[in-house]
Amino acid sequence: MAQQEDVFKKIVAHCKEYGFVFPSSDIYDGLGAVYDYGQNGVELKNNIKQYWWQSMVLLHENIVGIDAAIFMHPTTWKASGHVDAFNDPLIDNRDSKKRYRADVLIEDQLAKYDEKIQKEVDKAAKRFGDSFDEAQFRSTNARVMEYQQKRDALHERFSKALNDNNLEELRQIILDEEIVCPISGTRNWTEVRQFNLMFKTEVGSTAEGASTIYLRPETAQGIFVNYLNVQKTGRMKLPFGIAQIGKAFRNEIVARQFIFRMREFEQMEMQFFVKPGTELEWFSKWKQTRMAWHQALGFGAENYRFHDHDKLAHYANAATDIEFHMPFGFKEVEGIHSRTNFDLSQHAKYSGKKIEYFDPETNESYTPFVIETSIGVDRMFLSVMCHSYCEEQLENGETRVVLRLPAALAPVKLAVFPLTKKDGMPEKAQEIIKDLRFHFNCKYEEKDQIGKRYRRMDAIGCPYCVTVDQQTMVDNTVTLRDRDTMEQHRVNIADLRSIIEDKVSITSLLKKLI
Ligand code: ATP
Repeated sequence: MAQQEDVFKKIVAHCKEYGFVFPSSDIYDGLGAVYDYGQNGVELKNNIKQYWWQSMVLLHENIVGIDAAIFMHPTTWKASGHVDAFNDPLIDNRDSKKRYRADVLIEDQLAKYDEKIQKEVDKAAKRFGDSFDEAQFRSTNARVMEYQQKRDALHERFSKALNDNNLEELRQIILDEEIVCPISGTRNWTEVRQFNLMFKTEVGSTAEGASTIYLRPETAQGIFVNYLNVQKTGRMKLPFGIAQIGKAFRNEIVARQFIFRMREFEQMEMQFFVKPGTELEWFSKWKQTRMAWHQALGFGAENYRFHDHDKLAHYANAATDIEFHMPFGFKEVEGIHSRTNFDLSQHAKYSGKKIEYFDPETNESYTPFVIETSIGVDRMFLSVMCHSYCEEQLENGETRVVLRLPAALAPVKLAVFPLTKKDGMPEKAQEIIKDLRFHFNCKYEEKDQIGKRYRRMDAIGCPYCVTVDQQTMVDNTVTLRDRDTMEQHRVNIADLRSIIEDKVSITSLLKKLI
């Protein structure tokens, strides 16, 4: 675990050193849980967004996009339930003065039982070798059974407390499980309180009478309030989807773990409107479609899992998370929710408008049901970074840090170096870039020795480097170096585009999805 934390620290430092992510307002020592993306970060982030957008809007004839405003009519948030119920249960430790989410403390405790069980299983697997029967071991080993029993009991108690909104019981669980504050190490806990996560501000001058509005805590409501506009103007037939990428804001209680939990972040959400009664079938289809999108990046199926929700929101009839194996455990990256007709019905009620669909096949009107897929751009970014960061021991004893980014997501696709700054090599290198920059992102570098330039490109995940040398000036060939294998071979300048373009384009990823 300590080692994993070390790796995570290194990733955070790497993000800053190589222009991926900076603390917000860094010269003023940053602002809690707010971050800026640098010159390389913005490219990677844009590529992630493009991959998502195109997989939704290009690959599905029945999905269209919108871009709704961040500010919305305040009644939106009354109707959606956010004003009354968008709360997290918080608890403070009196000694460290640190604030925690009570539910997260208990979830971490559940994960600890899982870890203990896994440790026993791994130990036994080693001892018994090929003859090891894991299922039998789990159901007969006394220690494992005891951990499992404790875990199940805790799980049941926790789910019930959440469902009943029982804050006292949440606190009691924390006390009974002897959960300590990781900072102070004590169990000196306050009461558990509810805390609304929405940021408020005001529109209009006070003379006109200002009114309180909220920064949207999710982009989804911008889609629901536009359902009628899009359905009518696009003459959309069910089932159809509306996709949107945009900023969301939450006043998170615990803002740690870098860009995993931010107060200002970006979401990619798609609401898929379906005929009532077909929603669970669509829920299961979208689970598979979204998992395939993640796995096309090639990070290995073992690093993903579904986590079905224990506590369903009152409007949902199914919900799952796609979790990714981060250095700090399996964590939610995306949520997939079957939201019934709750949102549209609520907006119909609060706005007084009829928000329905006329089904030409059955000649009836009804409120569509909704399947939502909701993924955080920043969490996705973090998962890509965590999986790609690699410290490699080279044969000559040196270590190199390389970001093994999927080429289609890499901020820079090709770096072009003149071997030296003379004999027309810089001009030749610039010529190559002038031609290729229309097709993918290229970067020119002439400073430092060639080895150092390669390392810098490895560190930002650039998949290809080209070096212009004496021979280039004679026969128009260059050396092309591959980031991962570090192998180099000579190719004709005229062939560079055809060799590289296909591998670095978003299309290469999209093709894996169909
Ligand atoms: P969590 O339980 O981690 O607070 P959530 O279940 O509230 O997340 P949703 O409301 O389902 O999250 O939001 C959908 C997605 O938006 C999440 O899967 C996550 O990727 C992203 N997201 C939510 N909150 C944040 C945040 N504070 N910072 C960054 N991304 C976030």
